[in-house]
Amino acid sequence: MKTILYFVETTLLWIVAFVLMAGLGWRLIFYVVAIFRKRTFSRHGTWHRVITLAGILVPFHRAVLKRPLHAVFRYAFHACLFIVPVWFSGHINVWEESRFEWYWTPLPDAWADWMTLAVLAACVFFIIRRAIFAHLLEARCSEFLVTLITAMPFLSGYFLSHGTLSGINFFDSYLWYFHLISGEVMLLMIVFLFCRTRLSKARCVGCAACVENCPTETLEFNDRGQDRFFRYSRYQCICCGACVNVCPEQAAGLCHELRPSNLISVLTKSEIRQVQLKICPSCGVRFAPAPQIEKITRMVCAKEVDIAPLDYCRRCKNLRPDMQNRPIGSPQPATDSTHS
Ligand code: SF4
Ligand code: SF4
Repeated sequence: MKTILYFVETTLLWIVAFVLMAGLGWRLIFYVVAIFRKRTFSRHGTWHRVITLAGILVPFHRAVLKRPLHAVFRYAFHACLFIVPVWFSGHINVWEESRFEWYWTPLPDAWADWMTLAVLAACVFFIIRRAIFAHLLEARCSEFLVTLITAMPFLSGYFLSHGTLSGINFFDSYLWYFHLISGEVMLLMIVFLFCRTRLSKARCVGCAACVENCPTETLEFNDRGQDRFFRYSRYQCICCGACVNVCPEQAAGLCHELRPSNLISVLTKSEIRQVQLKICPSCGVRFAPAPQIEKITRMVCAKEVDIAPLDYCRRCKNLRPDMQNRPIGSPQPATDSTHS
């Protein structure tokens, strides 16, 4: 047992540090390469490059416009996740006593306590919210796992620094190791944790506004056969939130995805949404996403106005005599027209 604990304190710590550095370096290189290969940059110039690269470090910046409270809460949560482990006095003492003898000014312990409690409260909130609204959020197991792995080192660290469980022999002997292992697992998780853009099946109408506004062009669509396919690569997504901000249906969202295989799927784009296309009954051309037309139809139907032009492509609307001078939303004509 002693050998295992010694391994956890020494060799495993070095292995985790190495995997963390190598993994983050690997990801950063592919982010930068993927972003600089894009056509967008030649169109927008140097500032666009700088801003897009800065977006890797400051995620969600555009989604802030749409859901400011939610964004501020997330920023604060992620700031605490970073600040507490780096500036907690107990951790700085360990660095000072190590062979590196590094020291920097720690946070007051009371601040570290409050920030730790804030992280734990947020984790509980995320778990409950994801459990209750699972059908709305399309929550995945990895979201729960990520939250649990994040909470463990903070919980054990809080107990450890306050001696809460020191009256129990088992915890007195092993809580430090549990804290160390849970911290190592959390650091390893960072390497395999990706931000994934999702387009909600229930809400997305396939309008492609998110594609048009994606600064790295990682989101793309192509129309094949009767469907429109949306594709996406994690290595080109900088989690900027532009897709979330621009989506008129609140259908785009960002979530965590914990999957080691993502680390090697550098070149592939995966399909994240498929939408049926509407067929023009006059010429047979597929001209718009069917859910979008259905939505507009539902909206204008309620107003008892003319919706017949919605069924036709633009060309047929212009060419067919029965469709001319009938803009969508105009009062219904006195006699029914047939789409023959
Ligand atoms: S902008 Fe929203 S509704 Fe339109 S395709 Fe993207 S996710 Fe779907
Ligand atoms: S997919 Fe969304 S979050 Fe990712 S880079 Fe494009 S707009 Fe930004």
